[in-house]
Amino acid sequence: MTLDVVKLVRADFQKSRPSTWPKIEGTPSTINLEQLWSSMDSTKQILAVIIEEDPFLNGFATIIEYHKNPFINSIVIPSSHQIAQQFGGVSLPALLVFKRDNPQSLEYSSKEAVDFNAIKKKLDEYTSNLAESNHQGPPPPPAPHANNPLEPSPHPAGGKQMDNIPIDFNQYKVQQLDVASALNYMLNQEIPRKPIIDGEKLSALKGWIHLLKKYVPGTAPIRRLFYRLDEWTQLQSSIKAEDWIEKVESLQRDLGHPLPSNSTWIACKGSQAYLRGYTCGLWTLMHALTVQAYNDEKHNSAFKPVVEVLEPLHQFIFNYLSCEVCAKNFHHMTESNQLSLVTRPEDTVLWLWRAHNNVNKRLSGDASEDPKYPKRQFPPPALCPDCYINGIPMEDKILEFMVRYYSDIRTDEVFPQPGYKMTEFENGKIQKVANKHLNPKFAIHADKIDKLEEAEARLREIDGGPKRHWKNLDSDSYAAAANTQTADRSTFYFVWIVIIVAALAFAYMKYRQNRSKFWKTLYYYNDYKV
Ligand SMILES: Cc1cc2nc3c(=O)[nH]c(=O)nc-3n(C[C@H](O)[C@H](O)[C@H](O)COP(=O)(O)OP(=O)(O)OC[C@H]3O[C@@H](n4cnc5c(N)ncnc54)[C@H](O)[C@@H]3O)c2cc1C
Repeated sequence: MTLDVVKLVRADFQKSRPSTWPKIEGTPSTINLEQLWSSMDSTKQILAVIIEEDPFLNGFATIIEYHKNPFINSIVIPSSHQIAQQFGGVSLPALLVFKRDNPQSLEYSSKEAVDFNAIKKKLDEYTSNLAESNHQGPPPPPAPHANNPLEPSPHPAGGKQMDNIPIDFNQYKVQQLDVASALNYMLNQEIPRKPIIDGEKLSALKGWIHLLKKYVPGTAPIRRLFYRLDEWTQLQSSIKAEDWIEKVESLQRDLGHPLPSNSTWIACKGSQAYLRGYTCGLWTLMHALTVQAYNDEKHNSAFKPVVEVLEPLHQFIFNYLSCEVCAKNFHHMTESNQLSLVTRPEDTVLWLWRAHNNVNKRLSGDASEDPKYPKRQFPPPALCPDCYINGIPMEDKILEFMVRYYSDIRTDEVFPQPGYKMTEFENGKIQKVANKHLNPKFAIHADKIDKLEEAEARLREIDGGPKRHWKNLDSDSYAAAANTQTADRSTFYFVWIVIIVAALAFAYMKYRQNRSKFWKTLYYYNDYKV
């Protein structure tokens, strides 16, 4: 990631060459050691030369990292440069170190190829030795995070710094729009990143979509979307990315676009566009799924929490989360947190809660953290005072809280479709016209969606035959088919008329045979009863 960032910074540098930035470029081949020393600030004791071929990313990373260092000047040269020819002959990328007190002779040369981390380790050693010998105390504190993109920010984990930041409770509202935005991003960006989905990735996808079909939180159209997507996905042996996108789009169209086409974040909105967002929405979705699974299956003795929920979730993260480091860390967590020992339905909720808190702890103070939303253990005591006794989390209370919290999904900023108009009349005159919307909170149970979809599929089967014929017929055969259908229908009506007439004739015959008995019974029925 460091090198990717360096690539972007270098591209920006090339565009406008800001005067306050270090020169993120290679050293011209005409410049020799002597000229380099004379062009350097006299306080700089060390000249670090990185030998590397284009695009020089480890070298540029070193230039950025050390441009404010009081002792070190760093440059990058290709292997064809005269200094490399004179002192090189080493595996690339290589680090050469020269010292001011002996400027023309090599102080250090790496034996094996080095990367930015190895270069940094070596140069940091020189920095602290020089700082000590110059009696200047430790090297200057790192520049503020924003000015020094390669340096992690100071660590506020549980420290005073974090306690000073007031909790923004808006982050603790489970929002339908966050979940729907995460689903949109997942379906349209994360899943079709690979041009072809097959093998292990396809199995992971099938498991995940099936899980969503069963427990995805949301309105009936969202659930129907996953019902149909699951039905389709399970039948595929490999999926091209463009087919996947087309399928999702056609389901969206059929169901009136229940998922937004852009991702909009409410509780998951970061203080900068690149912070929070999708991964926050994904966590929210995953917790809501585990809670829905628990609510649905807590009395089902056949329910297998790992096979049916946690393993599909794990496989999806491992195979599809574009943050590969996150995916790997999560994968290790499934081993170290003993996923295989989960047996009770409630463990589904608690396992994920614990795993997420482990991630929160690890990331507290990390460069990826949003400074306005520092990582905290969840739920903070202010949100659930009963969840802790002397600071120790009480799992039964945590479970109750999690179920309550992730079942209460808010619908702020969700504008439902379709809307309808209501007009009130009095004495024939319009009194009021109001625009109403179907309640977006109206969520429907997965069972009902299954039944609805199955019933609709049966109807499509019954209706579907003739309709499919009509679609593809040209005018002649259309007429022929129409004639055949008309003839079939006439026979059908004729048979029914014959049956009805025969039944009426039979009833009349019986009536004629027993006419007197019939009327007697009708007139004297009450007398008989008395
Ligand atoms: C599976 C996974 C693994 C990740 N691994 C990494 C990683 O290794 N390195 C990295 O830099 N980033 C990782 N991330 C991203 C990181 O966890 C955050 O999502 C990101 O930093 C944004 O944080 P956030 O402040 O929005 O809150 P998030 O941590 O995303 O949490 C979202 C919301 O969930 C709720 N919540 C928080 N904790 C819990 C809990 N324990 N139980 C229930 N609800 C909770 C809160 O309401 C919070 O606002 C990972 C993300 C995922 C989905």
